[in-house]
Amino acid sequence: MAKTILITGCCGFIGSNLCRFLLKKNYKIIGIDNLITGRERNIETFRSNKNFNFIMQDICEPIELKSSIEKIFHLASPASPKDYLNHPIKTLKTGSLGTENVLELGLKHSAVVLVASTSEVYGDPLQHPQKETYFGNVNTVGPRGVYDEAKRYLEALTIAYYKKNKLDVRIARIFNTYGPNMKRDDGRAIPTFINQLIKNEDITIYGDGSQTRSFCYINDTLSGLYKLINSNYNYPVNIGNDNECSINDLVEKLRNIINSSSKTKYLKLPENDPKIRKPDITLASEVLRWSPEVNLEDGLTKTISYF
Ligand code: NAD
Ligand code: UDP
Repeated sequence: MAKTILITGCCGFIGSNLCRFLLKKNYKIIGIDNLITGRERNIETFRSNKNFNFIMQDICEPIELKSSIEKIFHLASPASPKDYLNHPIKTLKTGSLGTENVLELGLKHSAVVLVASTSEVYGDPLQHPQKETYFGNVNTVGPRGVYDEAKRYLEALTIAYYKKNKLDVRIARIFNTYGPNMKRDDGRAIPTFINQLIKNEDITIYGDGSQTRSFCYINDTLSGLYKLINSNYNYPVNIGNDNECSINDLVEKLRNIINSSSKTKYLKLPENDPKIRKPDITLASEVLRWSPEVNLEDGLTKTISYF
């Protein structure tokens, strides 16, 4: 019989892609979402699949399921800076109360629970590249604090359930991921720049564009998450691409693919915007035998055709 997997945040960017990825592998999927930042159109193509069951629910309310589940991917949380700045308290509640509800459900079903953490737990990092052993540099009361601290709490709670309750957990520290099903207007760099270039609008670079990120194509992130949940490693693992690039370089790469008359506008850098970010993925390569395969130009080309 097909195994059943629960995905929280199934209507979001990563969640909807993960649903499709796992349905192709013949799993049964139960997806939960309250649509705070996700969209029903992201699940349209498989909504009527008999192996997919959608529950519209806020995970901050206790979760009751009739069928048994073997695994949980807990992805529900606002993720783009624009979204979590719009929903600061809900972001904290989702990371705390919501995560506790998911971990309790995991205990009840003796399920393996993978929680989505983030490179933001490293804050504006003073160590480069970032290894899982780095404790981070986060401003608790800065604008990003609501997201960063929600995720740091999520990690602490998850490990407490592992140590105290013997819950079988996995912690994925996901670095910037991009690809189809991102929202055009979610404020993240790649969809924003693609949209601006396509419409010949000004490109809004924050600061001088020298800040770096390391962008991972969605298919690579999905294979990393899948390998992680099927491993037996209970502590945080970085899942990301270690090909670092500045925001200026990212815009140049996009300009090389999209023919556009957009001009570049330099705006004020938001407070606490990390200056550098690049994962050390040695642990993922050793423990999961995983490393990303899609280069940035190819991933951007696929993403542009989606938009
Ligand atoms: P997203 O906003 O596209 O998707 C999140 C989904 O969770 C949305 O559909 C939203 O409606 C749902 N959700 C939020 N709060 C909820 C609640 N209380 N109850 C039920 N559903 C709720 O974001 P994403 O980019 O797909 O990110 C998914 C996860 O991965 C998040 O936990 C995020 O923190 C993590 N992550 C993402 C990235 C990235 O680059 N995309 C990087 C690091 C970590
Ligand atoms: N960024 C930018 N212009 C935009 C959107 C983002 O210059 O219109 C910058 C942002 O300041 C950050 C980087 O691009 O330095 C990545 O931003 P994103 O919101 O995608 O992710 P995060 O900051 O959470 O890593």
